[in-house]
Amino acid sequence: MSFESLGLMAELLRAVSDKGYSAPSPIQLQAIPLVLEGRDIMGAAQTGTGKTAGFTLPLLQRLMESAKPEKGRRPIRALVLTPTRELAAQVHESVQTYGKHLPLKSTVVFGGVSINPQKQKLIKGVDILVATPGRLLDHVGQRSVDLSQIDILVLDEADRMLDMGFIRDIRKVLALIPKNRQTLLFSATFSNEIKALANDLLKSPALVEVARENTTAESVTQVVHPVDKKRKRELLSALIGGNDWKQVLVFTRTKHAANRLAEQLITDGITAAAIHGNKSQGARTRALADFKASKVRVLVATDIAARGIDIDQLPHVVNYELPNVAEDYVHRIGRTGRAGNEGEAMSLVCVDELKLLKDIERLIKRDIPSVTFEGYEPDPSIKAEPINNGRGGNTKRSPRKPASSQRRGGQPSARAAQNNRSKGNAGQSQQRGR
Ligand code: AMP
Repeated sequence: MSFESLGLMAELLRAVSDKGYSAPSPIQLQAIPLVLEGRDIMGAAQTGTGKTAGFTLPLLQRLMESAKPEKGRRPIRALVLTPTRELAAQVHESVQTYGKHLPLKSTVVFGGVSINPQKQKLIKGVDILVATPGRLLDHVGQRSVDLSQIDILVLDEADRMLDMGFIRDIRKVLALIPKNRQTLLFSATFSNEIKALANDLLKSPALVEVARENTTAESVTQVVHPVDKKRKRELLSALIGGNDWKQVLVFTRTKHAANRLAEQLITDGITAAAIHGNKSQGARTRALADFKASKVRVLVATDIAARGIDIDQLPHVVNYELPNVAEDYVHRIGRTGRAGNEGEAMSLVCVDELKLLKDIERLIKRDIPSVTFEGYEPDPSIKAEPINNGRGGNTKRSPRKPASSQRRGGQPSARAAQNNRSKGNAGQSQQRGR
C-alpha cells in the first residue's frame, strides 16, 4: 500500500516524500482513511508506530477541505493536547513538517517558558494549536485563545495525561470546545479510566490498533542484568565504556536519582545529562538537542520527561531502575527498535526490584532473559528493601541465589544477552529465585 492510495492530497504526499517515507506504517494505513472520512478514533498505539503522522496528515487535509472563515482572525480549528512539553514540541514539529506545502498556520504552547511570545503568536491567528493542558488553560484565563470553533480534537498519549493528573484540566478544556467535532484519542494502554474518558468523548469511534495492548516490539532485544544496587553505576559505566556505546537513554525512577547518576557518569568520564520535570524547559531542550547531536552520550531521564522523546534509531535503552508501574517499562523500551531498526533494552535489576520485574513479565507475557556478569554477581546476603518512592516495594522476598550458569567473563557485553536468549529461560527463572 502506498500513501497515494490513502486519498491524501498532493501537498501532503509531497511532504511525506520529502521526509523520505516510502510506505505508510500500519497505524497510518488504518487511521488515515478513517480520519479523512470524519470518524472518531480510539487509537491503541505507542510512540514509535508513526501515530503522529497517522493523525496529523488527515487532520491537515480535513482543515484544508473544510470551509475557512471569510475574514478576520483565523480561528483555531484543530487542537492537539499532549501530556508533556517535549511531546507537544515534537507533535508541532510534525504539523509543520507535514503541512509545509499548505497555507495553514500552527503554533505550540506549553509551560515552563514565558507566556507572552505564545500570546503574540495566538493573537495573529492559527488554524492548529498543539498544547499541554495546564498552559492551555492559562491562555484561556488570559483570553488569548478561543476554543469555540474547534472542529478536530486530538488527545495524544491520553493514558499519560491521566497518570499526570490532567483529567480535571482536560474536562475544563472539553467544556469550552463544541460538542459537534471530530475527536481522536490515542493511548498506549487502555485502563478503565481511559475507557470511561473515551466513552464520554468519542462518538461511535473506530478502533485502530497496531500492537496488542502492552506488547513489546520484536525488534527490541530485552535482557535483565542482576546486580546489587550499589554496583549498578559501576556496571553501567563498564557497559557503556566497554561496548563503546555512543547514545544511550537511561531511566531512573526519580529526579534525584537522574541527577545523581548523570553526575556520577560524568565523574567516570562519560558525557551525560539529566532530563526531568524540575529542569527548566531550556535545560531540557538543550539536553535533548545535545543528546540527539551526539554531544552527550548518555541521557538520564525520568519516565515523564522521556515520554514522547523521538530519536530516530536510538540503539540502547537502559533501565537503571525498573519503573514502579509495569506499563512504563513498555513505554521506556519503545524508545528503541523503532521503524524496523534493531534495539537493545537492558534492565539493571537489584534484589529490591524482583517484584517489579515479575509484574513487568506478567504484563508483557514473557520472561526476560537474564545475564549475570562475572564480577557483578549479586551478594546473596543482601536482603530486599522497600523501594523508596512507594508503590511496588517488596520487603519480604528472599534474596536470590548467586548466578552460576550464565556468567560470562571479560568486558560486559550486551550481545551476550542475545546469545543467551536462544538458550531458553529455565536457568534464568531460578537465577531470580522464583
Ligand atoms: P511516532 O510514533 O509518531 O512518534 O513516529 C515514530 C517515528 O517514525 C518518527 O521518527 C517518524 O518520523 C517516523 N515515521 C512515521 N511514519 C513513517 C513512515 N511511514 N515511514 C518511515 N518512518 C516513519
